[in-house]
Amino acid sequence: MHLDALLILAIGLGLLHFGFPLAYYCYLRMLWLNKPWDVRGDSDYKPRVSIIVPTYNEAKLVRQKLDDIASQSYPEDLVEIIVVDSASTDGTAEVVKEWIADHRDVRTKLIQENVRRGKAHALNRALEATMGDVVVITDVDSAWASRDTLASALSWFSDPLVGAVTCLKIPAGRGFVGVEKGYRDLYNVVRLCESKKYSTPVFHGELAAFRRDLLVQLGGFPTDIGADDSHTATLIALKGYKAITVDNATCRELVPGKEYHVWRIRRAQHLIQHFTKAMKLLPKAPREFKPILLAETWLHLFNPWLLLVATVILLYKALTGTAIATIVLVAGIALFLFKPYRTWIVTQIYLITGTIRNLWTKEIAWKKQEKS
Ligand code: GDP
Ligand code: MN
Repeated sequence: MHLDALLILAIGLGLLHFGFPLAYYCYLRMLWLNKPWDVRGDSDYKPRVSIIVPTYNEAKLVRQKLDDIASQSYPEDLVEIIVVDSASTDGTAEVVKEWIADHRDVRTKLIQENVRRGKAHALNRALEATMGDVVVITDVDSAWASRDTLASALSWFSDPLVGAVTCLKIPAGRGFVGVEKGYRDLYNVVRLCESKKYSTPVFHGELAAFRRDLLVQLGGFPTDIGADDSHTATLIALKGYKAITVDNATCRELVPGKEYHVWRIRRAQHLIQHFTKAMKLLPKAPREFKPILLAETWLHLFNPWLLLVATVILLYKALTGTAIATIVLVAGIALFLFKPYRTWIVTQIYLITGTIRNLWTKEIAWKKQEKS
């Protein structure tokens, strides 16, 4: 057995690939998870809120979603719901109209676009009609965990430094919930810790709340990329406000039973688009936000490729008779027995595939996955 430069390079890249996220995770967990917040939510604070529900072919789920919103404990006179539908072909608009007719007590409005130009475009149409102090976006395939979720999330806006708030996330439904849960457990901790430190650059469409005046200042949601919620939150954090995941608001999201991989790759594509755009703004980031944005940009855009390069070199070395390369590869495969490792590797594959797919499609108006 002998070590040569190529082998050392492969092992070095591998160590960096696993070492950096591990170090980042440990740093966040140990230093920030149990730290008290530097902002405070005041549960008596009740801003006016406009809840935007974007729909595209959601006839099956939209009634439940609106019922869920209407059952929140938040004072009714402070809430308006705006459903914005983009030319659904499954009768979503009709279902919404029926719901509105049956719920005259809930202030609800339906905006219909004639052409589908993507979620962010629709959100911007809806934004024009909003009157609240805070605008909440919530996807149809999601549920708020309790009657108080909205109130809890909005209470954080009592602090003038808070510009945007999102929820913790738990997967639900009959789909690939096991895999998705492994991924979420890890990321909820990261998002929460980043938020305690300063802000998180990844938001969730299940409940993404923004100060309305900041959205207006930003000119609405970006329509040229997919992760409109995360990018908007990041722009708000770049302005010096906090964009945080809070620990008292949890949402469930339905995971598709079929096409799970297609779904994850599309979402990876959107995150990559977001970080590619955000990366250019890094020099302007507030001091506390810069390391977070830098770490997340690295993790989404660059780190996955180290694993790919290392694997390719190791394969080449193993095939040309280097025993150490074979041992490392076999160990790498054996580790698949551990779920966090499996979850991690799969995520890297989505990110790499997502980067490649972004070369020809941005998936701004994406194919809908069946969720139940
Ligand atoms: P995912 O959460 O990334 O799987 O994305 P979804 O397919 O669940 O979409 C998120 C939300 O945006 C859902 O409520 C969709 O109905 C809605 N949506 C997706 N595309 C469009 C669109 O082009 N226009 C509108 N108005 N809503 C959309
Ligand atoms: Mn969804």
